[in-house]
Amino acid sequence: MTHEMHQAGADSALRDAIYKYAADRMAMDPVPLDGPKSPEELLKLAGQTITERGIGGVAALSVFEEVLAPATISTDNPNFLSFIPAAPTEAATLFDLVVSASSIYGGSWTEGAGAVFAENQVLEFLAKEAGLPDGAGGVFVQGGTLGNLSALVVARDEAEKTLGKQDWAIICSSEAHSSIKSVAKVMGVSVVSGDASASGSLTGTAARAAIEEAKNKNLVPFALVGTGGTTNFGIVDQLAELAKIANDHSLWFHVDGAYGLAGMLVDDLKPKFSGLEKADSFIVDPHKWLFAPFDACALVYRNPDLARQAHTQHGEYLETLNKNNDWNPSDYAFNLTRRVRGLPLWFSLATYGIASYRSAISDNVALAAKIAKEITSRPSLKLVREPELSVVVFEKVGWVLSDYENWSKKLLEDQIGFVVPSSHRGKPNTRFAIVNPNTTFEDLVAILDTME
Ligand SMILES: *Cc1c(COP(=O)(O)O)cnc(C)c1O
Repeated sequence: MTHEMHQAGADSALRDAIYKYAADRMAMDPVPLDGPKSPEELLKLAGQTITERGIGGVAALSVFEEVLAPATISTDNPNFLSFIPAAPTEAATLFDLVVSASSIYGGSWTEGAGAVFAENQVLEFLAKEAGLPDGAGGVFVQGGTLGNLSALVVARDEAEKTLGKQDWAIICSSEAHSSIKSVAKVMGVSVVSGDASASGSLTGTAARAAIEEAKNKNLVPFALVGTGGTTNFGIVDQLAELAKIANDHSLWFHVDGAYGLAGMLVDDLKPKFSGLEKADSFIVDPHKWLFAPFDACALVYRNPDLARQAHTQHGEYLETLNKNNDWNPSDYAFNLTRRVRGLPLWFSLATYGIASYRSAISDNVALAAKIAKEITSRPSLKLVREPELSVVVFEKVGWVLSDYENWSKKLLEDQIGFVVPSSHRGKPNTRFAIVNPNTTFEDLVAILDTME
C-alpha cells in the first residue's frame, strides 16, 4: 500500500510550482534584499499553516513565496556585506537540489560510497593546496563551529594518551572566533589567548606568553589555534611562527580558516598562509568564501586515523559498518547521520575548474583594496586597518553607535544594502565583508555616499 504522501509523481502541479519557484529565485539578478518582520506580523500574514488536514502544497508554497521568503534577508544579494555573506555559484545551488532529491546517507562508505568519493576528492584538493601530505583527509561538517570542536576533541584525546586527564587549555589569539570559546565550554577546558590587539595577527611571541600564562594558572595547554583570516578583520595569524611553537611545546596545531583560508587558493596570498602546511588540522567553510550554499565546513586532518579513534561511534547496530576498514565520514567528526554537504562544492569545482575559484577570490581581495583606498581618500571616513583579505573595517568620524544603527536600519529599509554596525576595542565602526563576485565598486561607493 502506498500512502498518498509517498506516491511518486502524484502531484505534478506541485512539482511544477516548486521547480518554477526554484528557477525564478535563481534567475533573480539581483535578488531583493528583503528584511525581517516580527513574529506577530508574520502570524497575521501567514496564519496557522500547520493543520490536521494540511493546506495543500501549492497554498503552502504561496505562503512561503509571499510572506516567509520576503521576511528573510537574501545573503546572496551583492550588497549583503555584513557578517560573512554567501555567494553560491549557479552550479553549486543547482546541485544542492540534486542532493536534496537523492536521499544519500553520507555517514558511511557502505551507503554513500560514490558521493563520499567525490567529497573526498574535494578534501584532498584542499589538503594539497594547504600543503598537507598525502593521506590527509576528513569530512564536511555543518559549520566551522562544529569543525573546530571536532578537531579540538581529537587534539585533547591525543594529549591525554601521553599526559592523562589534566586541566586543559586551548591557546589562541585574542582575535580568535567566538566559536573557540564555545568549543572550550562544551569540552570543559579553558582558553588562554595571546594578545593580538596591535596588528590583529597573533605572533609567536604573544603565543609563547599565553602558554606561560596558562602554566602559571596551573593549566596544561594541549592545542594552539591559529586563525587563518579573522572574521572581524580578515587578518591572518603568523602561522609559521605558531607552527614552530606548537612543535616546540608538543601542542596540536589547528588552523581555523572558516572564512579566510579560501585565500590560500590565490598565488599572491600564499605566503600569508605559510606554516599552514604544518597544521595537524584545519577548517575552511565552503559556505563562506568557496561559493557553496549553506551549510558546509571542510575539516581536514594531517592524520585522519587519530580522528577516527576519537570520533567513531560504537553501537550494536553500527558494528557492521565499523568492522571493515572503510572510510566512514561519520568517524571523523562529532556527527553520525550526515547530508553529503560537500557535493555542491564538488559539482561546482568540477564544473568551473579551480582557476575560476582562484580568480573570483582574487577579485574580491582586489575590490577590498580598492574600496579601502576610496575610504582613506574621504576625510569623513577612517579606515581602521588595512585589509589583508576581503574585509574592510572603517569608521565615520564623529559617529556614535546609535548613528551607525540608524544608518544601517535605513540602508536596509531603502533596500540599498545590509551593512551592520560592529566595533573594535569598544569603539563602534562598520565593515564590508566582500565574498560575492557580483559586488561592485560602484555599489560600495554608493553605500559610502549614504554616510556623508
Ligand atoms: C564563521 C567562522 C567560524 C564559525 O563557522 P560557522 O560555520 O559559522 O559555525 C569559526 N571561525 C572563523 C574564523 C569564522 O570566520
